[in-house]
Amino acid sequence: MKTGFTTRAVHTGRGYVGTTGAVMPPVYLTSTFASGNPDGFDYTRSGNPNFRLLEETIAALEDAKFATCFASGVSAITAVVSSLKTGDVVLAEENIYGCTYRLFERVFAKFGVRAVYADLSRRANWRKIRELQPALVWLESPTNPLLKILDIAGISKLGAPVVVDNTFASPFLQRPLELGATISLSSTTKYINGHSDSLAGVVATNAPVWHERMVFAQKALGLQPGPFDAWLTTRGARTLALRMERHCANALAIAGWLEKQRGVRSVRYPFLKSHPQYRLARRQMSGGSGIITFELAGNAKAFCRKLKLFTLAESLGGVESLVCHPATMTHASVPRAVRERTGIKDGTVRLSVGIEDVADLIADLKQAL
Ligand SMILES: *Cc1c(COP(=O)(O)O)cnc(C)c1O
Repeated sequence: MKTGFTTRAVHTGRGYVGTTGAVMPPVYLTSTFASGNPDGFDYTRSGNPNFRLLEETIAALEDAKFATCFASGVSAITAVVSSLKTGDVVLAEENIYGCTYRLFERVFAKFGVRAVYADLSRRANWRKIRELQPALVWLESPTNPLLKILDIAGISKLGAPVVVDNTFASPFLQRPLELGATISLSSTTKYINGHSDSLAGVVATNAPVWHERMVFAQKALGLQPGPFDAWLTTRGARTLALRMERHCANALAIAGWLEKQRGVRSVRYPFLKSHPQYRLARRQMSGGSGIITFELAGNAKAFCRKLKLFTLAESLGGVESLVCHPATMTHASVPRAVRERTGIKDGTVRLSVGIEDVADLIADLKQAL
């Protein structure tokens, strides 16, 4: 019997309780395992019961045959890209996460893996897939911080292996493998764990060859998480559906409210009718998620500092609301000209809307405006 998303989130990943009857699994704080044990563990760099429980849980949520866990989202990206070779080309969406861009430009470029960037929300640019024959197409949808929506099914039909960074949507709202992608990758640090208390990353796939590469990378590159972080992430994932429902409802209400405020130039939220890819967002996601990007006419940094319930901080996806000023924080290292061309202005503000009472969040935004 195929159970629903939340049932799977609660009931998967609860093994290894031995003879104790413990309803939830313990944390296996051990570096090594006695040789010849029936579960086949040898050394925690290449496997630990807490990794397996997290991997089973993620596979169940992404509807994937396989999942592999890593120390962070960046470790998961490193694992995927490290399986390429000199001369390979990655065609990446131009508005990808800054640390992914940095990995391509400052690390993998040295090894002869070339990243080419294009605005993949424009169909005209899809021809680059035929022209470049990339080893991977790298997508993120929604993107950070502009919340562009990319057509995962459309791009996946073009033949090249597609990686989707699914961090902003989470598997509750969007399942890239069902849409035809080869890999769905997440920084679980954000929504999947959801409590801003641990870092980890996961790669989910149905392709045995990619699964083998990920298992190899976890062990050979030393990209494994700590057992306790894996345990925390598995625990967080159990309430993913409930949290996402609230994140989506709060964010939709706040986005609609912001659109009506004087002093707010424009609002980006995938489930607002004014979003340029609104219909695509409705087709491939079941909710708009919890991130809103908007542009203020006035001093954005001062506005951020005035907020009381939104903490001025990087990161997103936790139960608590955060605010970020991309131009001086997440995208400070991007030259101003490039930043403004891609739409990140000095007045751009990004909210990670938490699960608090929405009336309180709106009151806080109102006083800061
Ligand atoms: C945060 C983030 C990452 C990196 O994840 P870490 O867990 O911080 O290493 C990758 N992609 C996106 C979209 C992110 O938001």
